[in-house]
Amino acid sequence: MRFLSNHEVIGLRATPDGERITGVSVRARGRMDEISALEADLVLDASGRSSKLTQWLPDLGYTLPAEAMVKADIGYSTRYYRAPAHVMDTFGALVVDELPDEGKSGVGILPIENDTLWVTLFSTGGKYPSIDVDG
Ligand SMILES: Cc1cc2nc3c(=O)[nH]c(=O)nc-3n(C[C@H](O)[C@H](O)[C@H](O)COP(=O)(O)OP(=O)(O)OC[C@H]3O[C@@H](n4cnc5c(N)ncnc54)[C@H](O)[C@@H]3O)c2cc1C
Repeated sequence: MRFLSNHEVIGLRATPDGERITGVSVRARGRMDEISALEADLVLDASGRSSKLTQWLPDLGYTLPAEAMVKADIGYSTRYYRAPAHVMDTFGALVVDELPDEGKSGVGILPIENDTLWVTLFSTGGKYPSIDVDG
């Protein structure tokens, strides 16, 4: 395996009849003129949500596969609380899972630096947790 750092994939390469993907074109970051070809038996796109595959495949005449989407709608709100030293010394961490059916948020409490507790409410499905003190 070989890692090519500071390079950007700028497109797919295919056989002239478009039957087969043969690799990718790469460019050294910040060097617009230095484009080279990387041949490959298998091209795996791991470029996250900035992926250009939905552009590149139709450009080569391919039909895009149906997209599967998970609608997570995660929300979280965080406050920081000063805690007495004895709490910081003894407290580990606390996580209570959300109760989505009841529309209740979960909570995570974790000691961080400077005698501070990090308290985060979280929930999924678009029922965002409260951002006021009482909540
Ligand atoms: C603010 C924020 C907070 C988050 N918090 C959490 C969390 O607490 N817990 C959690 O589980 N998830 C969290 N996530 C989500 C998590 O970061 C992503 O789901 C995860 O990183 C996706 O991984 P990935 O490998 O698919 O893509 P990425 O991590 O996005 O990796 C893609 C890589 O490909 C590179 N790349 C892109 N295009 C090209 C190209 N053309 N050529 C070469 N390289 C390229 C990018 O530079 C990047 O390094 C958070 C996301 C954000 C934005």
